[in-house]
Amino acid sequence: MLPLVALVGRPNVGKSTLFNALTRSRDALVHDEPGVTRDRNYGVCRLLEGRPFVLVDTGGIAGEDEGLAGATARQSRAAAEEADLVLFIVDGREGSSALDDDILRWLRKLAKPTLLVVNKTDGIDVRTALAEFARYGFSDVLAVSSAHRTGIDALLARVAALLPETGSAETLDDDPERIRIAFVGRPNVGKSTLVNRILGEERMIASEVPGTTRDSIAVDLERDGRKYRLIDTAGLRRRARVEEAVEKFSAVKTLQAIEQCQVAVLMLDASEGVTDQDATVLGAVLDAGRALVVVLNKWDGRSDYERQQAEALAARKLGFVDWAERVRISALHGSGLRELFRAIHRAHASATRTFSTSEVTRAVEAAYAANPPPVVRGHVAKLRFAHPGGESPPTFIVHGSRLKTLSGSYQRYLENFFRKRFKLVGTPIRFVFREGN
Ligand code: GDP
Ligand code: GDP
Repeated sequence: MLPLVALVGRPNVGKSTLFNALTRSRDALVHDEPGVTRDRNYGVCRLLEGRPFVLVDTGGIAGEDEGLAGATARQSRAAAEEADLVLFIVDGREGSSALDDDILRWLRKLAKPTLLVVNKTDGIDVRTALAEFARYGFSDVLAVSSAHRTGIDALLARVAALLPETGSAETLDDDPERIRIAFVGRPNVGKSTLVNRILGEERMIASEVPGTTRDSIAVDLERDGRKYRLIDTAGLRRRARVEEAVEKFSAVKTLQAIEQCQVAVLMLDASEGVTDQDATVLGAVLDAGRALVVVLNKWDGRSDYERQQAEALAARKLGFVDWAERVRISALHGSGLRELFRAIHRAHASATRTFSTSEVTRAVEAAYAANPPPVVRGHVAKLRFAHPGGESPPTFIVHGSRLKTLSGSYQRYLENFFRKRFKLVGTPIRFVFREGN
């Protein structure tokens, strides 16, 4: 499981600013893709060193203006109660307030590892600001400015040091033949129906993975002689009636499931098109670099016209991930499942394909020869050679000169060239550009 870190603090101390600074600061490999909306409340931080974690901005969950006493604060509490580490954010300019004191009292009862983060320390005397909170008695105190991104690296280093050791025997001693799948999508698209349908077919050989708890549910199964592990998703949980607020918190579970899987199956309700919420889930899949299959569910009972409409809508909204296969199914009737599993296999095979240095270098040379980058302010980028940089997603390290001048459209050209040449379907691919040798 990805560890969970919660940002807790009264309104206006800068939680969402800090959230952005933390989630956007480090990962040079993550680009904002067109068509993807980001959820401001949840994000995965991928540290260059150390393990990734899910960051939750509890202020965002709880609504704009409440104290911890408000009814809407339940979400903040739920997030903090599940968190492995709490970052208690206070405002270094305004100093402590009664509301901060309330929160502190509650955090003490919670007895979680907690870091005191004194924010907004730009342009003020940091020592005075820290002294103001000395009576809170924290041994771990960091001064940051989220707006100016100072102290963020030190904070990340401290967070990394405090996170629990990875207990993921679950993924470590994994059978390489077993494909880890997560069914993701917003509520009501049919995840539970699909999972039940799949498990129902194969009830005899499905088994819960030992050691998984209420918080981490996985089921192993075999189907047509192939082995799979279904990673925790809303569909695997017993569907108790949950309040909407609690349902929203399951977004964290979705992020964790995406991180653990190899192939994410994004389920859409064919009749409802692609909503912002769908796009948020899709963004998380792309950020994590996971293989992707898109499912248009509820294909039953639609007229030809409705089906055409649904196809056209999906094609338009998902044009930027046109490398992902779209499979039409009816989870209710169990139709389309064979095609779905075939697509999962193709995506997984592409995501885990291995490459030799020479074939990657030849591909870069061929792409370059067919279409060299344009001249930018009198300079032309040169691509010299390349080598494989890893799988899931396939990553290519390209060496050359003036690579900073490579435009986004040229990078997309390279990507498409590689996709065609190596017949890669259903997986994002990444390029890392290195100046020189
Ligand atoms: P939240 O309610 O805790 O999520 O707070 P926000 O992130 O929305 O920030 C509240 C206000 O404080 C905004 O006007 C921010 O621009 C400002 N702010 C946040 N971080 C800093 C900081 O490091 N320095 C300064 N000077 N202002 C900040
Ligand atoms: P989840 O929240 O994503 O797990 O969605 P559920 O599996 O609970 O499904 C939500 C509703 O959609 C339920 O009423 C299902 O019966 C219905 N549903 C799911 N799959 C299909 C399908 O393929 N066709 C039709 N017509 N209804 C479906």
